[in-house]
Amino acid sequence: MAVRVGVIGGGQLARMMIAPAVELGLDIRVLAEDHGMAAQLAATQVGDYRDAETVRRFAREVDVVTFDHEHVPQEVLRLLQADGVEVHPGPDALQFAQDKLAMRARLEELGVPQPDWARVEDEAALQAFLDDHGGRAVVKTPRGGYDGKGVRVVSRAEEAADWFAATADGDALLAEELVPFVRELAQQVARRPSGDAVVYPVVETVQRDGVCAEVIAPAPDASEKLVEVAARIGVRIAEGLGVTGMLAVELFETDDERILVNELAMRPHNSGHWSQDGAITGQFEQHLRAVADLPLGDPSPRATWAVMVNILGGPADAAMTDRLPAALAAHPSAKVHTYAKAPRPGRKVGHVNVTGDDLDDAVYEARSTAARFA
Ligand code: ADP
Repeated sequence: MAVRVGVIGGGQLARMMIAPAVELGLDIRVLAEDHGMAAQLAATQVGDYRDAETVRRFAREVDVVTFDHEHVPQEVLRLLQADGVEVHPGPDALQFAQDKLAMRARLEELGVPQPDWARVEDEAALQAFLDDHGGRAVVKTPRGGYDGKGVRVVSRAEEAADWFAATADGDALLAEELVPFVRELAQQVARRPSGDAVVYPVVETVQRDGVCAEVIAPAPDASEKLVEVAARIGVRIAEGLGVTGMLAVELFETDDERILVNELAMRPHNSGHWSQDGAITGQFEQHLRAVADLPLGDPSPRATWAVMVNILGGPADAAMTDRLPAALAAHPSAKVHTYAKAPRPGRKVGHVNVTGDDLDDAVYEARSTAARFA
């Protein structure tokens, strides 16, 4: 068996698939936008993922195509399928991670709990939604948003005027009720093309300025019911949408212990980085197993707690590598993962995982190690 896995996109997620691919003996190749992070490590072709011929040529050399991001156009994915290429997740599933309006409509059909929402084509429609929802709402661009870009809390429809102006004819924005959540959670599921699925423990995610800052696995003080409901929602979405590979479901928990789906990612996700060091099978290995249709690994935690803290921004005055000795010396139990990305304010340039029996200690050690790179 020699499975050749082709990853489209050369960011940190592709980069972190490389070590487990090597361990499993899979031949991993990357179609990257430039000679950046993953390109330094794997057999890489540099090219434009929006160009059908570039992607088709890349796909011809591999047995299965998967992704580091969700931006490959549907037309390109459909061409690959028509060529007989194994694509995981496939375009039928991926469309719901590419378009938040399509996702809301499909989750409604599946009966999955989510915030009140509406497709709003103009300011009048948004104003009507605001009037129905206490005068405040969240407006989102359906496509292309990440790390909070493309998400705005508004109290007057004209606050989204620039987005409406940029919306093509026939397109619309997504309006959502402003959920008074007590915390954010994430549920990951891995699913093989043959249908087998495994469920990770539900985790708590902490966002700052729309960017994931920290993750605690499992989510502290989660009742049995919450754990079960989150798992059920994850599996329902993975099966209902036909997701293959890793699925992350971002969730809001409300003060009456209801959980509502925020959004979906069909690839390894920041909320699952803890699993590299905190679970028997980390999400990057699991994603490879799933897309290659290999038996899935055990998603159980290895420790009572795992804490992940993102390294955001990075050092202003020195390279990450210059800071590495001090960071590694700080807490020998901390696991440091860096992405070989140029530091920039707010940019995710790495993360730290710490596992242990005491949550406060793990949080402290992970934060203090990450802070050495600030
Ligand atoms: P992105 O695609 O940029 O990650 P999200 O849809 O996940 O955008 O939103 C980013 C953040 O904005 C969320 O993590 C949450 O903190 C906040 N948010 C998004 N939707 C809502 C909502 N309906 N109610 C309250 N907060 C929200």
